[in-house]
Order: sequence, then C-alpha cells, then structure tokens
Amino acid sequence: MQQLSSGPLHFSLLQVGIAIRYCLVRHLMAATEPISPSNTRVGWIGTGVMGQSMCAHLIRAGYSLTVFNRTASKAKALVDLGAQLAPSPHAVAARSDVVFSMVGYPSDVRSVLLHPTSGALAGLRGGGVLVDMTTSEPSLAVEIWEAAVAKGCESVDAPVSGGDVGAKKGKLAIFAGGEEGTVKRLEALLCHLGKVKYMGGSGKGQFAKLANQVTIGSTMVGLVEGMMYAHKAGLDVALYLEAISTGAAGSKSLDLYGSRILSRDFEPGFFVNHFVKDLGICLKECQSMGLALPGLALAQQLYVSLQAHGQGNLGTQALILVLERLNNLSLPSPSPSSP
Ligand code: NAP
Repeated sequence: MQQLSSGPLHFSLLQVGIAIRYCLVRHLMAATEPISPSNTRVGWIGTGVMGQSMCAHLIRAGYSLTVFNRTASKAKALVDLGAQLAPSPHAVAARSDVVFSMVGYPSDVRSVLLHPTSGALAGLRGGGVLVDMTTSEPSLAVEIWEAAVAKGCESVDAPVSGGDVGAKKGKLAIFAGGEEGTVKRLEALLCHLGKVKYMGGSGKGQFAKLANQVTIGSTMVGLVEGMMYAHKAGLDVALYLEAISTGAAGSKSLDLYGSRILSRDFEPGFFVNHFVKDLGICLKECQSMGLALPGLALAQQLYVSLQAHGQGNLGTQALILVLERLNNLSLPSPSPSSP
C-alpha cells in the first residue's frame, strides 16, 4: 500500500481517506443536526448589558455555555449560573458548535471573530456557526460570512432591538441575515432571546437594524421635544406622557424611556456612545448610497453634543439634557416621595 511520509509519521492513503471522510461526515452532521441542549454546545463572547441577560436565557433553557468577556468579572453572574469561563474567543469557539458575539463596536467584532490567532473563527471546527448580534457594519458581516464559508463554517448577522428590558425579558426583535436554512436551525436558540425575522443574505440583518436606528433617532428627538413642549405649556409631563401613550404618538421608545427621563435616571440602558456609533454607520452608508436623511443627521448631531459634554456613557434617554441646555430650561426633578 502506498505510504505518505512525514518525518517519523507514516499514513496510508486509506487512513488519510478515512480521516477526510470522518471530517466531512462530522461537518455534514453538524450542519444538519437539529440544535438542542443535548446536541449543541454554545459559546458567548461579550457579557455586558445585553449579552449578560441574553446568555442567561440560554443557560436557563438547558444549554451548556462557554463564555468570554474582556473584563472577566462581568461574566461572574453567568459562571454562577453554570457557564464555563474561557480565556479567549478562540478558546470559546474550540469548545462550541455555535458561537454568539455581542460586543461594542465593529472593531471589537473584527477582533473577537477574525483575529488570526485569538479570534473565534480560528478556533471553530468545520460546520460551526458564528452568530454576531452586535450592531455593526453590513460590509463586515459579509466579510465574516466569506471567511466562515472559506473555513467550512457558517455565519449569521443577527443584531437586535428592544433594549436592556427586551434582553431581560427575552423579547428582543432579532434581524437575521445569512443562509435562510441556517437561520431556521438557529431558531431553537434565538427563540429564547426574542422573535427572529429573516431579512435576506449576509449583511441584511445589519441593514435592517440600521434602518431601525434611523427610525429610533427621530423618534427619540420627537419624544424629548414633546416633553419640553408639554412642560413649557404648563402641563404635568407625566400626565401628558400617560395620555399620549395609547394614541398615535405612543411608541416603544416612550415605554422604555419616558419614565426614566421623568425620574432623571440616565443610567444605560443603551449607551449614547453606541447610538452615535450606529448613527455614524448609517450616515456613512447614506453617503455611499447617495441618500439624504436629514432627520438622521440631526439626531446624530444632538447625540454627539452629549459626547461633547462627556456624557457618552449615559443612556440614550439623556437626549433630554441636550434640549434642556438648548432652551436653558429643566424639566422638574421628581419629588423625593415619588416612587
Ligand atoms: P456593553 O454593556 O458595553 O457590552 C459589550 C460587552 O462586550 C462588554 O462587556 C465588553 O467588555 C465586551 N467587549 C467589547 N469589546 C470586546 C473585545 N474586543 N473583546 C472582548 N470583549 C469585548 O454594551 P451592550 O449595551 O451590551 O451593547 C452591545 C451591542 O449591542 C452594541 O453594539 C450595542 O450597540 C448593541 N445594542 C445595545 C442595546 C442596548 O439597549 N443596550 C440594544 C440593542 C443593541 P468590557 O466589559 O471589558 O467593556
């Protein structure tokens, strides 16, 4: 029998053939086996405001989780729930069939998924799936998809909307881009995080999320302008918000942020810095599309003003502060007795 020689090691062609077939069969099995707690090992990279709650839902659903976060202490609550802590995205992927990422910026996504030595794709075996849920660039989603396919893996972009409250309740809107069959298989996991909508090929999930952010930008401006107007007109602003909440001006933004603004709770939630990142990606896309969206540009400028005042780490409801500064006027502070 013909031998392949490699230093002291000798393999027969038959052995090599068997090894290749084994890898192919493992790959095909991994790509077709239904996802379930008994079949599927899950990895999670990024355990901040959103990732922490989302990951906890999967652990409670019975999946075994391996997690990584830059600041390890932020993964402690998940380790207490039963997750294994890994030292790098690569190590997460080496122990997982499906790897989720929920980090901050596109540069973080690139680093945790595509870094040649420490990144998740480098550690993922054939048939594995990357699911990036960070709000990031559509072109980067396509780049990750191409790199994953070249390695015999798969990738899906699946950014979300619904805020920290949606993440806690497992009620996020999930916008998925990639192979439709892969997204369908992933529903077994995604159903624990919210409701998934398939938006089209790779990058289309990110495009949908960015369109969502265009909408929210102007919605937030409308919300805080209405509150300023109501206050200046002598209305009780809490009563005003209650009155409009069931009418045409009602919105998820009002539900999520109205009472936080009234109680002057500007904790994130959703970081101003992340919203400026999202709106900046949208504006860049608009420039290359030749699309004029003045409402988007206005919202981005108002949020940049928060950053200029050193308030980028507040939640997006802090937009009221910009309007207060513009008008030299403050909404009333809550009385100490109010809840
Ligand atoms: P976050 O609290 O800052 O969480 C991001 C986590 O990822 C942090 O714990 C961070 O580590 C970790 N991380 C970032 N870069 C990393 C890297 N290179 N390597 C390892 N870990 C890294 O932010 P979030 O609010 O959860 O938001 C996450 C993403 O979801 C953002 O893209 C945001 O725009 C999007 N989003 C947020 C909301 C919301 O309401 N919060 C809603 C929808 C979408 P550290 O702990 O060391 O900082």
